[in-house]
Amino acid sequence: MKRVAVIGAGPAGCAAAINLKKFSNIEVLLLDKATFPRRKVCGSGLSPWTLELLDRMGIGNTVRKAAYPIRAGIIGGVGGTAVELRSHYEAAVLVRSQLDTILAHEAAHRGAQLIEDTRVEELIRENGRLIGIKTNQGNLEVDAAIVCNGGTSKLASAKRPGNTLRSLMGWYEGVDSIGDALEIYFDPMVKPYYGWVFPESQNRVNIGICYDAAYGDLNARQRFQQFIEERLGKRMRHASQIGYLMGHPIAVTHKPTALVQAGVLVAGEAGNLVDPATAEGIHTALASGLLAGEFMGSVLDRGTEPSFQKLAPYTQLIQKKIAPRLRAGNWFLQAAKTPILDLALRFGSLKSVQQTLLWVIAGV
Ligand SMILES: Cc1cc2nc3c(=O)[nH]c(=O)nc-3n(C[C@H](O)[C@H](O)[C@H](O)COP(=O)(O)OP(=O)(O)OC[C@H]3O[C@@H](n4cnc5c(N)ncnc54)[C@H](O)[C@@H]3O)c2cc1C
Repeated sequence: MKRVAVIGAGPAGCAAAINLKKFSNIEVLLLDKATFPRRKVCGSGLSPWTLELLDRMGIGNTVRKAAYPIRAGIIGGVGGTAVELRSHYEAAVLVRSQLDTILAHEAAHRGAQLIEDTRVEELIRENGRLIGIKTNQGNLEVDAAIVCNGGTSKLASAKRPGNTLRSLMGWYEGVDSIGDALEIYFDPMVKPYYGWVFPESQNRVNIGICYDAAYGDLNARQRFQQFIEERLGKRMRHASQIGYLMGHPIAVTHKPTALVQAGVLVAGEAGNLVDPATAEGIHTALASGLLAGEFMGSVLDRGTEPSFQKLAPYTQLIQKKIAPRLRAGNWFLQAAKTPILDLALRFGSLKSVQQTLLWVIAGV
C-alpha cells in the first residue's frame, strides 16, 4: 500500500483525491487547514465547461441542485455600453463554501481520508526523496504528495512565468435588476480586467473587481467604490451589504511550468493554473487535479519510485490539456488592452457582433 498526501481540499485537491482513489492500493490523505464548510473568497461562477467536468466526475447534478442557474452573460465596456448574450450554454453560481464541501465530502465518500483543521507546514525530504510531511498536528510518513493549497502556496514554490492579480469583493442583498445573467464589465478603473455582479440567488449577489496593480494608481477600495458608483449606481439604492469586503491575490499564468519535484506534483492555483484574462480557476483546478491524481496513481501503481524523471511528463500533460485555454485567455487579455473590445461592444446590438463575442468568450 502506498500513501499519498493531497495538500489542500479545494477543487484541485478533491479532484486529485478522487482520481487517486481509483487505484485500490493507494491510501489517500486529503488534508486541509480549514474545517468544511469553509469560506473561500471567490465569485463562485461555474462556467459551462466546469459543469461539464463536474458531470464527468459524477457530481454535476448534486452541484446543479444547490446552485443558482445562469442562462446569459452581460458584457460591458468603457462608456457604459453593455450587451446581453444569450445562448444554449448553461452556467451556474454556487457559493464556494457549499461547492467545496460537496467536493470534499465526495472525495471522502470515494475513500479518501479527509483530515480537516490540519495545516501542512513543510515537505520532509531525505537525500532528495520525499518521505513525509510536517503538519501542525505532527509529522506523517508519505510516499508522495500532490500540492493543491492554492495561490498563496509556499510548499512547492518555484519561479513560474505569470502574474498576481488583486481582487476585492463583497456580498449584497436587494440589488435591482438581478436576473439569470453573469454581469462582467471591463470598466476603466479595472481595465484590462473587470468588475462583476454574480447572482447567488434571486436576492443575493456577489460583486467584485479584479485588477492588475500595474494599471492605474487607485487602491482596491477606491476602484471598488468607483465601480459600484459608476457602473451600478441606482441599482444599489435598496441594496445592503452582508459582511465585509474581502480581497485575495489570484496567481495566473499562460505558460504552466515547474509543476513537478521529486515525489511531488502541483495542481490548481498552487501552480498558477488560472486563466490570465478571466481569473477563472475552478475549471483548471479540477482538470489539473484529475490529471495529477491519475498520473501519480499510475506511477505508484506500477511500483515505480516517483522520482523527478518519472513524474516529469505531468508538466507536458498539463501543457497539452490545459495550457491552450490559458493561452487563449492571454490573447483575450491582449485584446482587452486595446480598443477592440470596446468597439465591438459599441456595436453590441448587432446579431453578428453578439455571435462573435459569444464565440470568443466560449473559446476563451
Ligand atoms: C476574488 C476571486 C474571484 C474568483 N472568481 C472565480 C470564479 O467566479 N470562477 C472561477 O472559476 N474561479 C474564480 N476564482 C479563482 C478560483 O477561486 C481559484 O483559482 C480556485 O479556487 C483554485 O482552486 P484550488 O483548489 O487550486 O485552490 P483553493 O480553492 O484556494 O483551495 C486551496 C485549499 O488549500 C487549503 N490550504 C491552504 N494552505 C494549506 C496548508 N498549508 N495546509 C493545508 N491546507 C491548506 C485551503 O484551506 C483551501 O481549502 C476567483 C478568485 C478570486 C480571488
